[in-house]
Amino acid sequence: EFLEREVEEILGLRERREKDSELYKIANEVFDRTTKETLAYLHRRGKIEELYGVISTGKEANVFAGVDAEGNKIAVKVYRTYTTEFRRIWEYLAADPRIGYLPKDMRKLVFVWTRREFKNLQRAIKYAVRVPEPVIFRNNVLVMEFVGDEAPAPRLKDVEKGLEKSDFEELYSYLIGVIERLWKRGDMVHGDLSEYNVLLWDGPVVIDWSQATVRRNRMSVELLKRDLRNVTNYFARKGVDVEDYEVKLRELIER
Ligand code: ADP
Ligand code: MN
Repeated sequence: EFLEREVEEILGLRERREKDSELYKIANEVFDRTTKETLAYLHRRGKIEELYGVISTGKEANVFAGVDAEGNKIAVKVYRTYTTEFRRIWEYLAADPRIGYLPKDMRKLVFVWTRREFKNLQRAIKYAVRVPEPVIFRNNVLVMEFVGDEAPAPRLKDVEKGLEKSDFEELYSYLIGVIERLWKRGDMVHGDLSEYNVLLWDGPVVIDWSQATVRRNRMSVELLKRDLRNVTNYFARKGVDVEDYEVKLRELIER
């Protein structure tokens, strides 16, 4: 079948990849027909020449390393169209005033989720937060700039053992600054800011914007509090002289 051939091309299976590679296994497990069609479309548009590695497998999405038709490295986040996280995704989207119509169909709901992450990345960039540059999204597939060189950049969590107190202090004030700037200037909150969603690549890069939302969202203060608490507690454990997060929270919401 044509589609299958196209997907094999994207996965590079025809040349060198073995059919028992991790990439093939994950692709086989999570690429349903919609995902294959979407990848094939992006392939035809030159946005994805090839996927050659799995960066991460998660409950909600898998992230692949790839390259576009011009040879630029890309990270491709492929949301599962079937996810056990349906309820949570629905609740988060339902609270977001930017989302007009909520599809009942899980697959279509995931498309809305994907589009929202793309928009969040674009929005975050405007407020001088370093994030992977979003390239394109379609259906459940989000293509973005690859952060790293051969290997993907490490997460803060991966390298924390090699960091010094002054590194933690710098990161702490940068991340609190990000939270503040997003909230005050961008009317926005990340909602899942932690040592797992910060890559270190010549400075911090904040990733995973799927939960991010706007201040008008009725859950935004709760999400803001969560970000402040997670960041503060993490850096307190690393010996940073942190500011009380509840004081910070009040400062931010009472203006
Ligand atoms: P999840 O919802 O599964 O946590 P993330 O967006 O956090 O999804 O991505 C999962 C992992 O993939 C990250 O922890 C990071 O290691 C890697 N990753 C995500 N985006 C990129 C990127 N643009 N460049 C390099 N690695 C990335
Ligand atoms: Mn993440």
